[in-house]
Amino acid sequence: MQRIGRTIVVGGGPAGLMAAQALVDAGADATVFDAMPSLARKLTMAGVSGLNITHAEDFARFLSRYGAAAPLLVAALHAFPPQALRDFCAGLGQETFVGSSGRVFPRAMKAAPLLRAWLARLAAGGARARTRMRFVGFEGAACVFRRADGARETVAFDACVLALGGASWPRLGADGAWVETLRAAGADVAPLEPANCGLLADWPQGFLERHEGAPIKNIVVTAAGATARGDMTITRRGLEGGPVYALASAVRAAGAEELVVDFKPDLDIDALAARLAKTRAKDSRANALRKAGLAPAAIALLRLSRGGPAPREATALAMRIKCARLPIAGVAGLDRAISTSGGVTFESLDEHFMLRARPGVFVAGEMLDWDAPTGGYLLQACFATGRAAGVGAARYLESLNPR
Ligand SMILES: Cc1cc2nc3c(=O)[nH]c(=O)nc-3n(C[C@H](O)[C@H](O)[C@H](O)COP(=O)(O)OP(=O)(O)OC[C@H]3O[C@@H](n4cnc5c(N)ncnc54)[C@H](O)[C@@H]3O)c2cc1C
Repeated sequence: MQRIGRTIVVGGGPAGLMAAQALVDAGADATVFDAMPSLARKLTMAGVSGLNITHAEDFARFLSRYGAAAPLLVAALHAFPPQALRDFCAGLGQETFVGSSGRVFPRAMKAAPLLRAWLARLAAGGARARTRMRFVGFEGAACVFRRADGARETVAFDACVLALGGASWPRLGADGAWVETLRAAGADVAPLEPANCGLLADWPQGFLERHEGAPIKNIVVTAAGATARGDMTITRRGLEGGPVYALASAVRAAGAEELVVDFKPDLDIDALAARLAKTRAKDSRANALRKAGLAPAAIALLRLSRGGPAPREATALAMRIKCARLPIAGVAGLDRAISTSGGVTFESLDEHFMLRARPGVFVAGEMLDWDAPTGGYLLQACFATGRAAGVGAARYLESLNPR
């Protein structure tokens, strides 16, 4: 097939790979460059605890999750909505299913089978990959890379899509080192900040041996005036999970030092006290709590809550279960945040995600200045903006060389 121009994609995560897919589909050249030895390491890591690829709620509600960025993302998300992503996965042999609360996962749960099938499809379409190639800047209409052997290599392009990610979990590849390069190229870049972070806790000895990795299901957490519901997980460093991530910014801003947990949000204090009162007098407190429906890890957390040993009297114990004050030691930083807020502002881009200051250079994915909660919204916007940038780059090439 005759190619319509030299196109490079820099950054081989979900956004970059989707841009490459759109370019290949449009008959353009696509070589994906990445600094790491293999592509899409963060996507692979995301699959370790179940790849929540998108969300199945109705489109208006879905869009509202992007807050102030919703009007800026609506065209890309409308052109490549959650169902299109699910169809795309199915086309790669990876059927998806809707889990609890509408979150969508591949049946395999992991990212690896999807990624393998996708890379094979890209290669069959003519896309190439060059790894261990670190983008360090522009030289005219060329990208400059530093190779693993330290040598510089300049690669000329007609169109280029940058999809270098944010700055969280830098050991997976995205380290935000592009910020100054992009500013020098004339883009406005809002500072990168950690988003969707876990909370830190100083767990006592012994606690982790028994409870690390344990999920605490269906709880309501409150801190610094913010409240969220869902499941959280005990980790070596503290607590992770959707409701914790939802509170992290408020906790950081307020410097809050405790998290209030309602372990039984569907029961009011009286109903819970009645349930506790039914347990036998000779039951240990732990037994009574188990009979009231608390998992062992939740009971252990309750023991660590402020206010001394859990009271015996049923109403006082119910109040403790519904209002446990757990000490926290801060918010995780960029090294372990799920995502970053900030990035290339939409004012710097035209409607096809092309840099106004640098015609022919497009930007996609987490590099852009939008933010969203966990729940599949992050990946969906990365795929959708990657596709929009790839389509935009193909159009740009066509405008240079009308057929
Ligand atoms: C532990 C974890 C779990 C997650 N789970 C989910 C989830 O279940 N659902 C969800 O929606 N989101 C999840 N996310 C977030 C999601 O993975 C990211 O938002 C998404 O991967 C960002 O895609 P991207 O393509 O923009 O950037 P990235 O995936 O970060 O890819 C950027 C690529 O650019 C390369 N790169 C960076 N700098 C350079 C350079 N200078 N030169 C060359 N290459 C470079 C990197 O090596 C990388 O391959 C999770 C994140 C983490 C850390």
